[in-house]
Amino acid sequence: MGAKQQKASRCSVCGVSSESSDHLFIRCRIAIALWEAVFSAFQQCISADTWSLLFSQAMSVSFSDHVRVLWKTTIHVVAWSVWLACNRLIFESKTMDLRSALSLVWRAMSDANRLEIECMRNCVDDLLILRRFDLHGCPARAPVIRSVIWSPPAPGWTKVNTDGVALSSPASIAINFAWQNGWHRIWLESDSSYVVQLLSSHSKQVPWRIRQAWQRCIYQISKMEFQVFHIFRDENQVADVLSKHALGLEVDSWGKLPVFLLFVG
Ligand SMILES: [Zn+2]
Repeated sequence: MGAKQQKASRCSVCGVSSESSDHLFIRCRIAIALWEAVFSAFQQCISADTWSLLFSQAMSVSFSDHVRVLWKTTIHVVAWSVWLACNRLIFESKTMDLRSALSLVWRAMSDANRLEIECMRNCVDDLLILRRFDLHGCPARAPVIRSVIWSPPAPGWTKVNTDGVALSSPASIAINFAWQNGWHRIWLESDSSYVVQLLSSHSKQVPWRIRQAWQRCIYQISKMEFQVFHIFRDENQVADVLSKHALGLEVDSWGKLPVFLLFVG
């Protein structure tokens, strides 16, 4: 009886230590070998005295969204493989060797990688981890770099830049100014999506106080070669500064660059 109790308290897998979840999941020989293989593949160095501590440490490791899914899958599958090895031995008297346990982990990784998971980080670390498991990642899109510098119009065109507060309405005033001067090829840029949408659709749905000027404006652009584009505020700094000085201005045009625009990018 005493011998049977002693045997029952031994680890079913290695038979050399007393059985406990901490032994089975972190100190039993198959667990040690699996964690070594996995931590080495993910370039991690985690050690803990208890299974719950090792698990919580593993869950808090930071990876890209893509690799994190693979990492978490691996941690769970390693624990499950150890548990499976233990149960196979007890209930089926079958031994699960390290190679079978590892192939179970690798297969689960491959399955997880097929899920529609987030992009990998475009860095060597992520690439090496995926290569070790012979997996292909989804690289993050390269950022689109866009110039936000004001550029002059094509020859023969007059460029008009209006500020976002254009419903008061600098856009219609500018178009009328161009019309009066016989400039009939207008390239208008505004940082107001609303104004761009009104002009490009020739909409007359504007507040009543500017309706008359706006209707004239829509008529004028219908008789012009007219292009309208939305631009970022950074591209529209000159119009922005002009609108801020608008109340103090005594003239509506300059022969040379006004002083307050000298340092505008
Ligand atoms: Zn053991």
